Amino acid sequence: MPRRTSNLPIPRGLTLCPICGEYRGKVRARDLNWRGSDAEEEIACDKLVGVSCLCSGIRCPRCRGVMIHRPGSNSYMPGGNYILHNPILPAEPLCDDCRRKAGLRFMQQFGRQ
Ligand SMILES: [Zn+2]
Ligand SMILES: [Zn+2]
Repeated sequence: MPRRTSNLPIPRGLTLCPICGEYRGKVRARDLNWRGSDAEEEIACDKLVGVSCLCSGIRCPRCRGVMIHRPGSNSYMPGGNYILHNPILPAEPLCDDCRRKAGLRFMQQFGRQ
């Protein structure tokens, strides 16, 4: 099933990647919805925000099969017209699957005594 896009207009500067279906490019900060984020001061800002798609990400270091967003990069969320910042974590970045498995193991080890 093709990814459903919302009716929100996509800000200028962003293009849909034909490979992974995510947006990439450069977008003006004030064209984005910053409500609820901790970067509200960016709202009226002329600064360009770089957005990268999954293709410029990295492979999950654990399973080596899945692409994950490069830590420190920004992803555009067309559903709400906002930017998701992919944090740089002290631990190695893992795909959702591996993170779930790692979390599960952690719970089994330390959760219940
Ligand atoms: Zn892509
Ligand atoms: Zn993985």
